[in-house]
Amino acid sequence: MQDRRSIYDTRGIDELRRELRFEPGLLRRLRIAYFKKSLGTEAALAELPAGVRDAFAERVEFHPFVLHKRCDSQLDGATKLIFRTAAGMLIESVILRAGTGRVALCVSSQVGCAAACDFCATGKMGMAHSLSAAEILDQVVQANELLRGEGRAVRNVVFMGMGEPLHNEDAVGRAIETLCDPSLFHHPPSRVLVSTVGVADRMVAFAERFPGVNLALSLHSVRQGTREQIIPLAKRYPLPMLRETLAEVQRIQTRQLMLEYLMLAGVNDSLEEATELLKWLDGLDVHINLIPFNPVEDAPHLTGSDRETRERFAAVLKSAGVPTTIRYSMGADIEAACGQLVRTENHAVAAALARARC
Ligand code: SAH
Repeated sequence: MQDRRSIYDTRGIDELRRELRFEPGLLRRLRIAYFKKSLGTEAALAELPAGVRDAFAERVEFHPFVLHKRCDSQLDGATKLIFRTAAGMLIESVILRAGTGRVALCVSSQVGCAAACDFCATGKMGMAHSLSAAEILDQVVQANELLRGEGRAVRNVVFMGMGEPLHNEDAVGRAIETLCDPSLFHHPPSRVLVSTVGVADRMVAFAERFPGVNLALSLHSVRQGTREQIIPLAKRYPLPMLRETLAEVQRIQTRQLMLEYLMLAGVNDSLEEATELLKWLDGLDVHINLIPFNPVEDAPHLTGSDRETRERFAAVLKSAGVPTTIRYSMGADIEAACGQLVRTENHAVAAALARARC
């Protein structure tokens, strides 16, 4: 059997269309049904004449991922989707349904992560396989197919799942281009957010390529020693460099910068640090998200700041006029929160693969 070509391989699919001799307009309709309307593979194929439908279906790969498991939170509107890659690894996406009816999808860009942040379960996996653009986008397609049954659709795509997006810049960039392409998903760039641990040079390159896409920096501390303690990569990208990077990104981009600040008890949550943060931010126009810590098994030495501390920290920032939001965690009962994604399952898979090789 011939190799299947991916539905995302625009040129390859067009060649196949010529070979099967059907009109470009039919392919356009198939793409609208599949990408824009999320009608699913069957309905998209129904746009083609019966004579070529089977041949096309046989030679095109629509879904690089298989949905392995779905977990719905009993507490809130979160749904975790666990996908199996062709190599047998598991990755996760999280659907977040807000009270307003708006839906965000948190996508993964890698299996594992080389950044190895102390507070993050994905970082503790100690490996990083980058996903392809098709694998990143299949998370959106499958989530949308599922949401269609509820009369909803993904409104915001946030790269806050497993992995460091700027360590997989090529595929993430291609995925965003495809997502925003008017003939494909036609998703507005202003509803895409890429969160990074702070890969300084790549942040500037990213802002130049996508000036209308939101960028968030996981800052977590403005003390170099503290930041290094929780984010090993902070050694390579020290705070003064990051401060310059943010100023540069702000000059290039049209969107307001976002900063994430994980609140860890006794580590980075003192009021002095809130004041230092204000000083560090002077001259920047940012929105700060204070995020609660979601406990992870491998970091028993870390605990989240209590509510009162988070509120006092936020008050310092707000009273200085810095837009600040205290975030709440979703999907706590299904381990869908930031930094908790599929570590356990992947260990089981890695172990099974190792056994199989013996
Ligand atoms: N690598 C990217 C995106 C992945 S994680 C980044 O570092 O930004 C998305 C956000 O979740 C980051 O701000 C990350 O620091 C945070 N995070 C990771 N583990 C967490 C945990 N256990 N609790 C709360 N937030 C966590």
